[in-house]
Amino acid sequence: ATPTAVMVATGKGASQGVLIKGGNALEKAHKVKTVVFDKTGTLTFGKPTVVSSVLFSGIPIEEFCAMATAAEANSEHPIAKAVIEHAKKLCPKIGSNGEHHTEAKDFEVHAGAGVSAKVDDRIVLVGNKRLMRAFSVTLERDVERYIAENEQLARTCVLVAIDERVTGAFAVTDPVKPEANRVVSFLRSMGITSIMVTGDNWATAAAIAKEVGIEHVFAETDPLEKADRIKDLQGKGVTVAMVGDGINDSPALVAADVGMAIGAGTDVAIEAADIVLIKSSLEDVVTAIDLSRRTISRIR
Ligand code: ADP
Ligand code: MG
Repeated sequence: ATPTAVMVATGKGASQGVLIKGGNALEKAHKVKTVVFDKTGTLTFGKPTVVSSVLFSGIPIEEFCAMATAAEANSEHPIAKAVIEHAKKLCPKIGSNGEHHTEAKDFEVHAGAGVSAKVDDRIVLVGNKRLMRAFSVTLERDVERYIAENEQLARTCVLVAIDERVTGAFAVTDPVKPEANRVVSFLRSMGITSIMVTGDNWATAAAIAKEVGIEHVFAETDPLEKADRIKDLQGKGVTVAMVGDGINDSPALVAADVGMAIGAGTDVAIEAADIVLIKSSLEDVVTAIDLSRRTISRIR
């Protein structure tokens, strides 16, 4: 495209809340055959809330909540915020310097899995099955059942292990954006395939994918694996757009032919992307590709 055409299209995009960082992205977007969507914060609002909790052992609920809260207090993950909020509701004394306020030591983030910390000299793990596996924590049958029941309902289970034993869990929901299904159908009508990638587990991912009408899913991926899935597609000659919001999406946003960041996403994702969807609406994935198609076809 000529510099003038690029300038006009970029200006038009900006007025519609689609920030295109350069001519290259605009040139490539018209060729996109596959759009890879991150799940959390992209297809969903990324504002998870806890909808149920369960205790598996005889642990007092105050102690359970205090341990989980102390471990999650240092995490930036939205799930951590949901867990803490719920724990405070269950046990209002927590966090107000009440008797159950405890500080964590040796806090560690395990990407795509959860957190670990030492609380009152006990090892506390808060996260998914993958985290439990990494620490050789075995899952009892009642734990497995709780996980299966909730994953079928598109909920993510957050397990809390204390000293290698799962003592309880939280079930988290993160509703899908209302436009997600419509956008996936519209992309299909444009000849574009939609794919989901997520660090979340397969069952929850499949349930969400079904809700939005996506047939192809890659779950339980870490940030580099998300990028690898994109490179695989490119290896087959497919031009790929990636839509994401998180730090964990940035390698994939860079690897994609066209990286699109959700405006409400993290600064790291916005930096890594070629296009920023300022309004955070998935509709603007279509706006961006459409704008590119119109610009390129006008010049040819
Ligand atoms: P996504 O790719 O869907 O944005 P993430 O890679 O951020 O997801 O996280 C993947 C999974 O790891 C989450 O669904 C959750 O099960 C687990 N997880 C990550 N961080 C935490 C945390 N702080 N507390 C509990 N679980 C966590
Ligand atoms: Mg995300």
